[in-house]
Amino acid sequence: MKNIAILGSTGSIGVNTLDVISRLKGRFRVVALSADSSIELLARQARVFHPKVVSVGNEELANKAKKLLPSRTRVVYGPSGLRFIAARPDIDIIVFAISGTTCLIPLLDAIDNRKEIALANKEALVSAGPLVMSLAAKRGVRILPIDSEHSAIFQCINGKSEAVSRIYLTGSGGPLLDVKREKFGSLPLSYILKHPRWKMGKKITVDSATMMNKGLEIIEAKYLFNIKESSIEVLVHPEAIVHSMVEFTDSAVIAQLGVPDMRLPIEYALTFPERSKAIVKRVDFSGVGALTFRKPDAGKFPCLALARDAAASGRLAPAVLCASDEEAVKNYLNGNITFTDIPKIIEKVLERHKNTVRSISVKHVMDADSWAREETERLCYR
Ligand code: MG
Repeated sequence: MKNIAILGSTGSIGVNTLDVISRLKGRFRVVALSADSSIELLARQARVFHPKVVSVGNEELANKAKKLLPSRTRVVYGPSGLRFIAARPDIDIIVFAISGTTCLIPLLDAIDNRKEIALANKEALVSAGPLVMSLAAKRGVRILPIDSEHSAIFQCINGKSEAVSRIYLTGSGGPLLDVKREKFGSLPLSYILKHPRWKMGKKITVDSATMMNKGLEIIEAKYLFNIKESSIEVLVHPEAIVHSMVEFTDSAVIAQLGVPDMRLPIEYALTFPERSKAIVKRVDFSGVGALTFRKPDAGKFPCLALARDAAASGRLAPAVLCASDEEAVKNYLNGNITFTDIPKIIEKVLERHKNTVRSISVKHVMDADSWAREETERLCYR
C-alpha cells in the first residue's frame, strides 16, 4: 500500500484522482489533501478518505475548515501548508493537481525529498522546466505526467527516448474549431466554457478555446521529454481518441488511444509501471467511425505561435507567457477584457520582457512571474 497526497483534491483532476483511488481498492492510503477554497467538498472528501493532514488557501479558511473536519485531522494553510505536505516523510507519492505557478515551490520540495511525482499541473514545468527537470535528474525522481497528451507520449516512448524523432501533439481543437474568426469577439462566455470533449476547470477551458493550452503543452513536452520544439507538431484531432503520437527514427509511429477520460492517465501515473484494471470505458472503434487530423489554423489561434516563440527563446520567456496568460484569462473571466484581447495582451507583455538571464533560478522565475502579472494587469485596465 502506497501513501499518497493529492494537492488540489477539489478540482476536476483531484476529484477524478480520488475516484481512481477508491476504484483501486487497497492500493493507496490517502495521507494528505489540499484545496484552495472549496472547504465543504474538502471536508466531505476527508470524511471518506481520512487524511492525516489537509491544507487550505489561508488562515481564515483553515479556521472554518477545522470546524468541518474530524478533530484529529491536522489543518495547515497557504504556501507553507503545501510545503509541509511535500516534505512529510510518511508520503510516497504526490499528485500535483493544483493549476498555476503556486505548484512550483512545493513541486521542487517534493522532488528534493525524493517523492514519486504524478504531475497534472503544467505551469510549473512551463515556467521552470529546466529547474524541475535537472533537480529530478539529480535526485533520481521520475515525473509521471497526468496531462493526457504527455501521458500518451510517455506511454508511446516507453523508454526509447533516444530513438524519438518527432512528437505529434493532438488536440480536439476546442470549442472554436469551426467558428469563424470574425465571430470570436461576439461569443458569450458560456459558449467558450462549453468544451466539446473534455470537462475541465474554467482556466484550462478558456486556454483550450484560444489553443494556448496546446501552446503550453508544446513547452511542457519540450522539457519533459527533452526534445526541440521544432520536433513537436500540433495536430487538430476533433474525435479526441488519439491522445498523441510519437514518431521514431525509422519513421514508425506509435500512438496511444482511449476515450477522453482523465481517469486513464491518472490511473497510469499511479500504477506505473504496471497496468491495472479498466476504470474508463473501452473505445468503440466502429462507433467512432473515422479518426481525422488537420493542421491548426495559425491565423485563428495566435496563442500557438506565441507559445512556440517563447519555447524557442527559452530562459524566462515561457514563465512570462504562462503568468501573462493566467492573468489575462482571469481578467477575461471577470469581464475586464474581451476574448480576442487575450493573445494581444500576452504578445505585448512578451515584447516588453527582456529575456536576458542566462541560467535561470527559482527567484528569476518568481520575479518574471510577478513582473508579467503586473504588466498584464496594467494592459487589462488601460
Ligand atoms: Mg492536455
